[in-house]
Amino acid sequence: MIPFYKLERYDGNESLFELVMMSIVSSYVGEPLHIHAEGLRGTGKTTIMRAAKSILPNITRIKGCIYNCDPAAPHCPHHRDLSARQIQDIGTEEIPMPFLEISHSAKVGTIAGSIDLAKLTDSTHPEASLLPGIIPQAHRGIIFIDEINRLADTSPELTDILLDVMGNKPGHIQIEEAGLPVVDLPVSVSIWAASNPDEEPGPLEEIRRQLSDRFDMLCYMGRPDSVDILSDILRDNSYYFKTHVHKDKCDAAVDAAQNDAYRQDIIKWAAHYQSADLPDFLRNFIARLYVRHNLESIRAIEAMQQGAVLYSVIKNHDKVMINDVTRMIPLVLKHRVDGDTLIKMVNDVDARGTKEGILSFKNRKNKKDDDDPEYFQNNARPLKDMSRRELVNTEKALTPSEF
Ligand SMILES: [Zn+2]
Repeated sequence: MIPFYKLERYDGNESLFELVMMSIVSSYVGEPLHIHAEGLRGTGKTTIMRAAKSILPNITRIKGCIYNCDPAAPHCPHHRDLSARQIQDIGTEEIPMPFLEISHSAKVGTIAGSIDLAKLTDSTHPEASLLPGIIPQAHRGIIFIDEINRLADTSPELTDILLDVMGNKPGHIQIEEAGLPVVDLPVSVSIWAASNPDEEPGPLEEIRRQLSDRFDMLCYMGRPDSVDILSDILRDNSYYFKTHVHKDKCDAAVDAAQNDAYRQDIIKWAAHYQSADLPDFLRNFIARLYVRHNLESIRAIEAMQQGAVLYSVIKNHDKVMINDVTRMIPLVLKHRVDGDTLIKMVNDVDARGTKEGILSFKNRKNKKDDDDPEYFQNNARPLKDMSRRELVNTEKALTPSEF
């Protein structure tokens, strides 16, 4: 696997790099941030998300606890009733922040939990006890699900579990097994998902709107459009490069140092995030957007607030600025509102930045407009007529000029 720092970055995938970083920082402090990357096959959504596994910082848990109990706030059936002294006696250990995947063939028992068969069939000490599934084991970490739209279409029971896990921050999970009492656990997990809305069964919001709304943010992966970047990608993937150059150039020590640099940044940003807040005027700004545009989802504006602070932190801004908030608008709304509402908001926010942004997007599509900005002004299509992909690219429109 290509190390995270060696992945090609370009306009079309920069948002996903940012969301991944924001979600790691947020997960690290115990506040999940659920993110969804949409895009055509081959745009590298899953590559970026999976590569992030190697830059995750460590967490400290009660020694040997497969539920990843935080020593300061134990939550699992074994440790939640223990005193601080008893926990101290057990000890603690550091483990990498969990990063687990849910496959489409997974069963409810694998995901939530099941009877521990090894213990049940132990000839000397048969005992009915619980084996936590993937979700409780990912507590304080990340779960990745590829092709979430297909999962929502074919596995309503897994979808229902995700709705509970993503319903609040932290969410919760119920583990039910015949013969054992029902266990209800708080679980703090960021869900990362990827999908291709142009393939069957279509965009997630059309399959299971409720699940789509649980994702704080959605970004659409664009294709690289620079010859240089495409050449680099081709070179990295050529047989010759992989078997000769890449092998020679591979330096585990360098990779480890780079991963560690990310880890240090994440820890620094997490500390900053814990003391950063949105100023009141920006909170009012978000609240006004909600009222004025008759948004349905409170989650959307909660995500806008959380995202704006996280974004300002990973960009090393001293304080949260209006640009940090407007940057979040397309990311939190494109899966929640229709095109008309999004364009109204775009116009509402920063008229100047917006028009320039849309203009620059249009320019890339059609060189003719480049020569004649008036042409665009007079011929701009309403956003509702744009395709989904174009609509998503209005994200650029809201990107502050500093980017
Ligand atoms: Zn525990």
